[in-house]
Amino acid sequence: MERTYYPESESSHPWLGPLLDTQNLMDNAVSASMAPHRDKVPCGRGCAACCKGGIVPINNVEARGIRWFVTEQLRGEIRDRVISQLKGFEPGQGVCPFLVDTECGIYAVRPIGCRTFHIIGKKCGKNDNISAIDDKKIYRIPNEKLRDAAQPMLSVFETFDREDQSRQVYSGYLRAARPMRDLDWASYILYATKTPDLWVFGE
Ligand code: SF4
Ligand code: SF4
Repeated sequence: MERTYYPESESSHPWLGPLLDTQNLMDNAVSASMAPHRDKVPCGRGCAACCKGGIVPINNVEARGIRWFVTEQLRGEIRDRVISQLKGFEPGQGVCPFLVDTECGIYAVRPIGCRTFHIIGKKCGKNDNISAIDDKKIYRIPNEKLRDAAQPMLSVFETFDREDQSRQVYSGYLRAARPMRDLDWASYILYATKTPDLWVFGE
């Protein structure tokens, strides 16, 4: 998979290039790791039970990427739908505010948690509770591949120590990520009452 470049945005937002690098490396790592098992993985477009639990972890840089994408890149009906959903979003709500019908409205910048989450076996039912899913059903790519792909993004946080990187990857919470549902998305994206450098969970 080729990475998409946004020269103007990347020069005005220095964290954006490293984030997009990591997202691209992550996609390629997932795709290479999953290739031999693809017939056992039912995940694909139009299937979104995993977007309704709100448990996807997200960190500050990923949140900035989403805000950039919604405010500077999204166009047309998808933008209108996302904006309208953001207006109605309350922190704690499970359904992701970027889910448009059964598709991700911010697919290009969806968090690492969304990129790397896949299951093995039977496809989820549309009302399945994703947080109750059996751990054995979750497909995991090797941690060292995740860590290598995460390096450009971790450089934004000045996290260069390999052991620290590994610890964060093993715990699943890169740079103090927290569940998507905890963010005050409307304040962060629509009303700009939270600056990018303040953490966006209302602290
Ligand atoms: S985790 Fe479940 S709901 Fe999500 S894409 Fe895979 S099969 Fe579909
Ligand atoms: S960001 Fe996209 S893929 Fe991730 S939970 Fe939301 S709608 Fe689903």
